[in-house]
Amino acid sequence: MLQPPPAEPGMPEDEIDTPALVLDLDAFEANLDRMAALLEGTGVRLRAHAKTHKSPVIARLQMQRGAVGQCVQKVAEAEVLAWGGIPDILVSNQVVGARKLARLAALQRISHVAVCVDGPEQVAALEAAAAAADTRITVLVEIDCGASRCGVEAGPPTVALAQRIAASPHLIFGGLQSYHGSAQHIRAPEGRAAAIAHAVELTRRSVEQLAQQGLSCAIVGGGGTGTFRNEVASGVYTEIQAGSYAFMDADYARNAEPPPFRHALFVLSTVMSRAIPGIAVLDAGHKAVAIDSGLPLVHGRPGLRYAGASDEHGKLLVEDGAPPALGEKLRLVPGHCDPTIDRYDWYVGVRGGRVECLWPVGSRGAMA
Ligand code: PLP
Ligand code: MN
Repeated sequence: MLQPPPAEPGMPEDEIDTPALVLDLDAFEANLDRMAALLEGTGVRLRAHAKTHKSPVIARLQMQRGAVGQCVQKVAEAEVLAWGGIPDILVSNQVVGARKLARLAALQRISHVAVCVDGPEQVAALEAAAAAADTRITVLVEIDCGASRCGVEAGPPTVALAQRIAASPHLIFGGLQSYHGSAQHIRAPEGRAAAIAHAVELTRRSVEQLAQQGLSCAIVGGGGTGTFRNEVASGVYTEIQAGSYAFMDADYARNAEPPPFRHALFVLSTVMSRAIPGIAVLDAGHKAVAIDSGLPLVHGRPGLRYAGASDEHGKLLVEDGAPPALGEKLRLVPGHCDPTIDRYDWYVGVRGGRVECLWPVGSRGAMA
């Protein structure tokens, strides 16, 4: 059930009902501008990942600053963006199942929605779905560039799969998907660089072998918030797919030489108990803030440590300074932005201590 917004435009931040997903608009816009500036003149495009923000509003703001389109992981996320008017989307993932493929094919009427494959069965199923809908679908081959999750082997198996796509009358070969997920949070920059150097070599070789067979890659995509600067410098990638950069969570801040973005996304929470000395309890437990990538940080209050999350309670240890008052509202920086956002129906946009806007998390819960 869609929850009512926890705030109204014009209200002071302190009156927002909690827990709430608060977007610091100055920091958020600075992050979007920073990414645009970092990519300027590189020839590499941004196709920002909407699995993070799940919002056509944020997609439009990214595209106003030069992003060429959006990535998503699920057909349902693609639908919400396409229905919201986003014209160029890549499902940077495999889609399996006739119903989902029929939805993907139907979407082509209103938006260009490409998809990835890593095996011949997926190509056959996509061809059938596109033919049934009398449309054509752009298909990228995902290669395993070192993360060992999805992706066909680079080199000849990649070429064979691309040829199969190119030979399918209702499919268009669109290039390569080469995303190294597990490199993003390698803490040392040298470790990230080594992982991406390996990915770049596999990708470069595949692009060259495809070219020898007359197949050109309109898109060579990959790169998240932790490594995009390496992919940009490679000369091989044409698009990067960062998502978290817009918000900058606590896990990314733990990388050595962290990505150059500001914390813009917070869970606003209220101190609901001060019964035990040295402890303050917040109304934001792990139903309110994702803890799969570590506990949240208490923003701007170094003496307070979020030390434990249960379903509805967040336990703060008062390590230094005055404890927060009962009823006081604190901003938490989530450990992991993507699943935290997916817990909320609304972004509450805040500037200068006041609520400026409310934006729906459009594809919240969209898993299909
Ligand atoms: N590209 C793909 C295929 C992903 O799966 C992800 C996230 O897992 C990203 C890009 C974006 O990553 P981040 O939000 O860390 O920038
Ligand atoms: Mn993530």
